[in-house]
Amino acid sequence: MMRVRPTILLLSLSLSLTACSLDEWTNQTNDPSEEEPSSEEQQVEEEENKTNEEENESSEEESEEQHEDANPNAYANELDEVVDEDGLTIIEQPDLIEVVVNKSRKLPEGYEPEELVKPDVRFPFEEDLPKKYMQPEAAAALEELFAAANEEGMRLYATSGYRSYETQEQIYESNVAEKGQEEADKFSARPGTSEHQTGLAMDVTTAEMEFKLQQSFIDTKEGKWLADHAHEYGFVVRYLEGTSDITGYEYEPWHLRYVGKDLSTDIHESGGTLEEFFGFHPE
Ligand SMILES: [Zn+2]
Repeated sequence: MMRVRPTILLLSLSLSLTACSLDEWTNQTNDPSEEEPSSEEQQVEEEENKTNEEENESSEEESEEQHEDANPNAYANELDEVVDEDGLTIIEQPDLIEVVVNKSRKLPEGYEPEELVKPDVRFPFEEDLPKKYMQPEAAAALEELFAAANEEGMRLYATSGYRSYETQEQIYESNVAEKGQEEADKFSARPGTSEHQTGLAMDVTTAEMEFKLQQSFIDTKEGKWLADHAHEYGFVVRYLEGTSDITGYEYEPWHLRYVGKDLSTDIHESGGTLEEFFGFHPE
């Protein structure tokens, strides 16, 4: 078993509004690639299955259970979670593959995944940093995804996975010291509220993107491929376009979240967010 020791690296305090705000400090390798811009226009079609499902349901016999809860994976109502003094819900089962972490749902203080390993994938930097690590099951799935992308002639790079509670705390507190809490809360995640702390997330990019994490990633063939195929490997693109009122984050076509192959296709086809899928956003 290998554990990543929380390493305090405050090389830069990013003011980015993204969930991945530590990522600008990736060391960059020499430009190894020659990606050509894709001319194909592929569309992310996430909603097409909805109407079919609805039609089928009405013709089926209704059991009470189905009527009450159309999605058996929505577990929000079963939890008995505690709210802390800041009004944030403390996540009760942080090791669940279905864990939903966001700005109002925080991991318990000091939470670390039980085990973290380094996936054997391409990174744009050599150092053995904590952000290379993921939970073992997620790491294996990421290797599969990268292998499939390679087969398609694409060169993805992983840039940021695990981030410790302590690292996030340092970032947040430095921002509060510099800008005041109210201002800091607008762009900086409080410790415990970053999905990267679960070890289930990885940000990916390409040399064409100069290893940056920007929304224009979706205009590249790799970004489109991930939007269409990440779910086949157990991942979902976590922060979808137009869902910032639900997730708290802008569109992030680069941020992959492992949810397991049992759920990833259902979530992908739902066309919605994890919050909605698991019942944390009842509207
Ligand atoms: Zn991210």
